[in-house]
Amino acid sequence: MAVPKQKTSRAKTRSRRAQNLKFNKPTVSVCPVCETPIRPHHICETCGFYKDEPVLVAEGYSELNEE
Ligand SMILES: [Zn+2]
Repeated sequence: MAVPKQKTSRAKTRSRRAQNLKFNKPTVSVCPVCETPIRPHHICETCGFYKDEPVLVAEGYSELNEE
């Protein structure tokens, strides 16, 4: 049976395992209406729009537009 010639150093082991500890940054896109960062395929929480269409209308939003 093949046996390692030398004990793997602590630094070597830890630097190898550090690759698995990386975590992926969440994907962020930008709202086309108000340009705040949003989660992709989600309604913008700031303006309530999804792909240029109003889905959630915030309180006072229509009143602000009429004035
Ligand atoms: Zn928005």
